Amino acid sequence: MVGRIVIGLAITIVCFAVAGRRFFWLSRLIRSGAPAKRPYQGLRKAAEAEVVEVAGQKKLLQWTIPGLAHFFTMWGFTVLLLTIIEAYGALFNQNFAIPFIGHWSAVGFLEDFFSVAVLVSLLVFTGIRIKNAPARKQRQSRFYGSHTGAAWLVLMMIALVIITLLIYRAAQENTGHFPFQGDWWAFASLGVAKVLAPLGTGVNSVIENVALLANIAVITGFLVFVSYSKHLHIFLAPINVGTSRRPRALGGLDKTPDMDMENISEDTVFGVGKIEDFTWKQMLDFSTCTECGRCQSVCPAWTTDKPLSPKLLIMGLRDNMFASADRLLSKDSGEAAEAETLVPTVIDPDVLWSCTTCGSCVEQCPVDIEHVDAIVDMRRYEVLMESRFPQEANLFLRNIENQGDPWGLGGAKRLEWTEALDFDVPVVTSSIPDGVEYLYWVGCAGALDDRGKKQAQATARMLHRAGVTFAVLGPKESCTGDPARRFGNEYLFQEVAKANIETLKEVGAVKIVATCPHCFNTIKNEYPALGGEFEVIHHAELLAHLVNNGKLVPGGGYSGTVTYHDPCYLGRHNRVFDEPRDVIDAIPGAKQVEMGRCREKGFCCGAGGARMWMEENIGKRVNMDRTDEALGTGADIVSTACPFCMIMLDDAVQASGKGDEVRVMDISQLVEESLLSGSAPSSAPANASDDA
Ligand code: SF4
Ligand code: SF4
Repeated sequence: MVGRIVIGLAITIVCFAVAGRRFFWLSRLIRSGAPAKRPYQGLRKAAEAEVVEVAGQKKLLQWTIPGLAHFFTMWGFTVLLLTIIEAYGALFNQNFAIPFIGHWSAVGFLEDFFSVAVLVSLLVFTGIRIKNAPARKQRQSRFYGSHTGAAWLVLMMIALVIITLLIYRAAQENTGHFPFQGDWWAFASLGVAKVLAPLGTGVNSVIENVALLANIAVITGFLVFVSYSKHLHIFLAPINVGTSRRPRALGGLDKTPDMDMENISEDTVFGVGKIEDFTWKQMLDFSTCTECGRCQSVCPAWTTDKPLSPKLLIMGLRDNMFASADRLLSKDSGEAAEAETLVPTVIDPDVLWSCTTCGSCVEQCPVDIEHVDAIVDMRRYEVLMESRFPQEANLFLRNIENQGDPWGLGGAKRLEWTEALDFDVPVVTSSIPDGVEYLYWVGCAGALDDRGKKQAQATARMLHRAGVTFAVLGPKESCTGDPARRFGNEYLFQEVAKANIETLKEVGAVKIVATCPHCFNTIKNEYPALGGEFEVIHHAELLAHLVNNGKLVPGGGYSGTVTYHDPCYLGRHNRVFDEPRDVIDAIPGAKQVEMGRCREKGFCCGAGGARMWMEENIGKRVNMDRTDEALGTGADIVSTACPFCMIMLDDAVQASGKGDEVRVMDISQLVEESLLSGSAPSSAPANASDDA
């Protein structure tokens, strides 16, 4: 008895001391990061996230089998905390039962049910790991690059926790110490007890003591192992989700205080050059990664054979954070000055510049890690502090700076697209004319690219037909700054953004409709931080509103199959998934087919993150990969709601040699074609936009 207590307590004290020291060190390390950039989401949203994502395991349950296995393991660990209390109670008193509930059949059943459920889940995890073994599937495995040895060890330790638990409970039953003596609700323990019963009470008494100590040793040993491994997420995931700064949609990037161009000092560091420049929240992100690889398997860069894996990027940053711990904790500015920058030492430039900022990784991550912000932060440093970036990008940056658009065509050409219209579009010179409801933000592609112009023209004609009044800025409009910001040139972004905000305020803009999801996202989600608050709507939302209210009635002249491609900055970043589909659904004769990767899981076209203006020399082209998927649906129209997606997909359709069979069209063009090619309905009433 005394020996059992001494051994049990000794194991516990040693393991708790080692794990406690590690957790204390870890908390100091994370808190050494810079202050978080955006305000806290608030307790209500945090509580919602805890209930939905942590307790409800919503993100993981989108994959039914692994999701259920994880659900039962997570809840198994929670319920089995009761058995830990029972184990420590039994260490001191073999007849111990938890006060009040200790003999309840329901408790015995729950404990045994979750013990078995965890064991079954472990078998599922084993199957998943064998099926997705990196040795077999190489880059296609989501575990490629993860610490698979540690993962197997964890599965083994969890199995040992349950096995030792069931054995000591069974032996307790046979020695008369089981709190649920003879109660068949504790079905698993009693089942094992039957197997051990023939050994007799004496042997069962020995087994009871040994298995109890083994159970305590495995649990506390697991605690130590967790504190040193990727399984830290058991403790950190609820904290990471609860302290998230950005619930759900991705939306805008941060304008951090140290990026404020009006307050630059000699010591100002733009972006993140070294690990200590990340915020504590980002350091918590890195520490929380489970290495599950879900981000990796959806990344358009990784799946087209580029070197960027969001998982490996986060793991690389975490490893560097741990390796730099002494420096981070000492806060020695001399050491920090001498430390090498993350790029290229830890993060290869090809990794950094491959990202399209599509947000798939953030969307999929079960513990809410924000890869895109980390990537853009490092790009900011590379561009603004080191001037190290793909040199072909110089041209588009210079064009935005000098001409106000990435192509360098200049403001004088921004009205040419209107020449094909058979009505006049008011051009704002000083202020938006009375009675005009919307300022139509045409965007650089809509105003200047030949294919983009067709989208802008169709949108304008459909709005006009529905009686929506709008005006354009023409030469006063310029690039919103989205590509410059995603590329890392925060200085240029803020310059153009501030100029645009001034113009928009001068002309009295209140309601803005944008056809480009990048413009839409930037004006809606990023201009407010610079003082520009406007009501912004995307044309897909406005068209859906007009169609749903009978203000715009598509014609019956279309017949064919349409597959809709979700633009990342409309869908994932801003949650506009249904509206474009509603517009297509409203066209008689248009049959919609979905691609496998659609809505939240939509696959990027390859243009975002300023990739539109960079060479794509590594691996398969992202637009080709997406177009192969679209063509695989058998659709004769690939529809979208973004001029950049349209250009990328159209290029890929032409390159596939399918240009004669498949067309790439904006949803506005699709509506227009339905009107032109057949039984066009009577014209819509005037002043039809209502309160869209
Ligand atoms: S944002 Fe997209 S391209 Fe960039 S790392 Fe994430 S998934 Fe990959
Ligand atoms: S970043 Fe998130 S999705 Fe990617 S491996 Fe880590 S936990 Fe999994």
